Amino acid sequence: DISRLTRISAYAWRIDPHGEMRVPSIIYANEDLIQAMDEKVYEQVRNVATLPGIVEASFAMPDAHWGYGFPIGGVAAFDPAQGGVISAGGVGFDISCGVRTLHTGLRREQIEAVKSSLADRLYHQIPAGVGSRGAIHLNDREMNAMLAGGARWAVERGYGRPEDLARIEEQGCMPGAVPDEVSAKAKKRQQDEMGTLGSGNHYLEVQHVVEVYDPETAAAFGLYGGDMVVTIHCGSRGLGHQIGTEFLKDMAIAAPRYGITLPDRELACAPIHSPLGETYLGAMRAGINCALANRQILTHLTRQVFAEILPEANLTLLYDVSHNTCKVEEHVIDGQRKRLFVHRKGATRAYGPGHPDLPEALREVGQPVLIGGSMGTSSHILVGTKETEALAFSSACHGAGRSMSRHEAKRRWYGREVVDRLAKRGILIRSASYRGVAEEAPDAYKDVDAVVDAAHESGLARKVARLEPLICIKG
Ligand code: 5GP
Ligand code: MN
Ligand code: MN
Repeated sequence: DISRLTRISAYAWRIDPHGEMRVPSIIYANEDLIQAMDEKVYEQVRNVATLPGIVEASFAMPDAHWGYGFPIGGVAAFDPAQGGVISAGGVGFDISCGVRTLHTGLRREQIEAVKSSLADRLYHQIPAGVGSRGAIHLNDREMNAMLAGGARWAVERGYGRPEDLARIEEQGCMPGAVPDEVSAKAKKRQQDEMGTLGSGNHYLEVQHVVEVYDPETAAAFGLYGGDMVVTIHCGSRGLGHQIGTEFLKDMAIAAPRYGITLPDRELACAPIHSPLGETYLGAMRAGINCALANRQILTHLTRQVFAEILPEANLTLLYDVSHNTCKVEEHVIDGQRKRLFVHRKGATRAYGPGHPDLPEALREVGQPVLIGGSMGTSSHILVGTKETEALAFSSACHGAGRSMSRHEAKRRWYGREVVDRLAKRGILIRSASYRGVAEEAPDAYKDVDAVVDAAHESGLARKVARLEPLICIKG
């Protein structure tokens, strides 16, 4: 309950360790966001703090809301040297779900002139919706090559350009992936799903840069007021979901054997250096590669549509960042450099300037942090700061975050009305499902500008530019 929260600054709140908690919990939010936050977030962020080997604190970002085990918007790091664990629920079902933004080199007038046919054509060419299938079918050998190679595999097969890879985390290929640890069932689910958007909150949006807060950083990103960009939000589709489902079950069953008591079955986890922990790592990293390959193919399909309708466009990648992952990173804890397993579930990595893992072109300014809002509100681009390293292992929010369940949203709105209302504002929605659109209605999300302000004011990331949607292809 909220009475346990101690305010530690205008934008940060702490829950001191009590009960089984090993470390405190820290929530980054302003007063209004904290008041409106799901009670479940407090419970979940405290539960995460009880897990073995957790270091420093269990964190919630300003967009946090109730998730499976871990809150969505949760960040937690574990030290293998202290019995640290890895949790399938701490990564999430949609392994490596993430966002990439592409420059188009176009002006608004050019898009407006063909807007409706561009929307139709994108919708036609990008398979979207529940169980959507693509034109690419992978045999067993190619499936394994994809799971080991990620976006690099995709580029080698002709989906995209070699220069895209530098602008993807891990240069587009997550090392340590073990395709053999991915079940036949997971692979089967993915066979025909490469290059598909899927359903729900996944989207492909044509967006307009309407406001630039930090012109210098924006210029370093190649962004200027009035620019048109394309943003793709999607993950590892059926394969990731299947991996998550299987390992959650295995981890829940194995926990007692490893002497782990779970405050919530959904927090199922295994020691990092246990057979199950290592198996999951290999499979999860293959899931990361699946998501990277998928966004790369979607990029290729998008370029084809633009080449057809707006041949003067040149779609170059600004950045691709995942927000459902566990990654091995070095962080300083009590003055000591440590190799930690950082879980970010619905949270974006946000490396500050100078980080060696950033591509050379961005190293001096910091990492682009790509944040969705909703199909009818702003989205944002931020940049990682120096401070965020000490605040939450270089992490920031990943979206606005839901303020309402899908069920409640469907009760309140009709998808068709939402589409019509947005069309009046010049925003074209193309979706396979009106029900899906109702679930994703802009008012089902928190105020993205407030969430982003909280991230900015707390130092997690710094605001660079604000985008508004013109076309949104929804799953
Ligand atoms: P998640 O990864 O948790 O599924 O979603 C990430 C964020 O994307 C959500 O918190 C929400 O703010 C944002 N989002 C959901 N649907 C849309 C959309 O259609 N367009 C944009 N721009 N953002 C969206
Ligand atoms: Mn997803
Ligand atoms: Mn996502």
